[in-house]
Amino acid sequence: MKTNLLDLDARALTEFFAGIGEKPYRARQVLRWLHQVGQTDFSQMTDLSKALREKLSTRAVVEVPHCVSAPQATDGTRKWLLSVGAGNAIETVFIPEQTRGTLCISSQAGCALECAFCATGRQGFNRNLSTAEIVGQLWWAVRVLGSEPRNARLGEEGNTRPVSNVVMMGMGEPLANFANVVRAMRIMLDDHAYGLSRRRVTLSTSGIVPAIDRLREECPVALAVSLHAPNDALRDELVPINRKYPLRELLAACRRYVDASLGDEISDAKWQRKGAPRDFVTFEYIMLDGVNDSAQQARELVALTRDVPCKFNLIPFNAFPDSGFARSPESRVRAFQEILVNAGLVTTVRKTRGDDISGACGQLAGRVRDRRTRRAGESAMRVRSVAGERL
Ligand code: SAH
Ligand code: SF4
Repeated sequence: MKTNLLDLDARALTEFFAGIGEKPYRARQVLRWLHQVGQTDFSQMTDLSKALREKLSTRAVVEVPHCVSAPQATDGTRKWLLSVGAGNAIETVFIPEQTRGTLCISSQAGCALECAFCATGRQGFNRNLSTAEIVGQLWWAVRVLGSEPRNARLGEEGNTRPVSNVVMMGMGEPLANFANVVRAMRIMLDDHAYGLSRRRVTLSTSGIVPAIDRLREECPVALAVSLHAPNDALRDELVPINRKYPLRELLAACRRYVDASLGDEISDAKWQRKGAPRDFVTFEYIMLDGVNDSAQQARELVALTRDVPCKFNLIPFNAFPDSGFARSPESRVRAFQEILVNAGLVTTVRKTRGDDISGACGQLAGRVRDRRTRRAGESAMRVRSVAGERL
């Protein structure tokens, strides 16, 4: 089996070269060729000796997931459907804005966590994506967008780049695919590859507590947590992983995460060089009509998150067929926002982008062959009854 070099971060690539009797600096050279130049052909890597290029071609390959379709939304949002074999396809979304270009990356084909309101969860789970398939989405977007000059945006050091930010908010639960996601994020942060800072890479999780702690230690980046409910009874139904890691434990993990980025624990030199991640957690809160959007629930949320430095991002629910939920009316979203803001919490309402190409949050379904047996269609009804009890 040949090694796919897109699966390797700097450390793994250095080990790979050591294994074939080469010096460590080869890893840096090859990272630059692969990720900065976008060169996938070893014979074109001109600063490697001919002998090394030949050696590489016998032991390694560069394999990027291939693109099945690339619709463009009326608001400029782009979506790529990338095939990852065996009839599975995943989605990557690019959201251009005035001052930044955000790429929303998938981490799994499907998702096993079954959040009641999520199209990906509804589809079931097939498998984890490899590091190459995860970072390959960024590779792909940079190549396509980079060839269109209008996509250039100001990057960190004043240089222009088409993708200034990455959010791990596509299909799948990134912390359930920890090793591959971390390796992919290390490549995103690596100055020899994409050179993004820790605050420009955001990982969104539904709350796998032990993995949040590991992330803090192994690859701290900006953290977003999908909260969606102000108490365990409702969150157990909306985000079933809550039954395993209830709110008290989740919020304590968030607190530890922020405390670490505030300074004391930052000892690793590499950490400092890339800057600390953000000094707050972003709580995502999807607004579901009549389920989690009352004034009383907003107040409950304020009390719940009192001890965690945080910002809120309210997400209008994006519909998909048979979801069983509806989007909260705008007036209720504003009223909810006002309660949080008046309590001193910075609260934004996410603008829905790309919904005419099913590219908005929670609409990504790709093409997934579910490999589990599941009970379908019950969850929305169950949630309604719990929410009803509390309203
Ligand atoms: N699994 C991770 C990341 C992917 S989901 C997580 O759950 O955080 C990214 C975001 O989209 C999450 O906040 C998720 O709750 C939200 N989302 C899921 N379904 C949605 C929908 N139908 N409408 C709007 N947002 C949705
Ligand atoms: Fe999975 Fe996130 Fe969707 Fe929940 S919201 S089912 S964790 S992708």
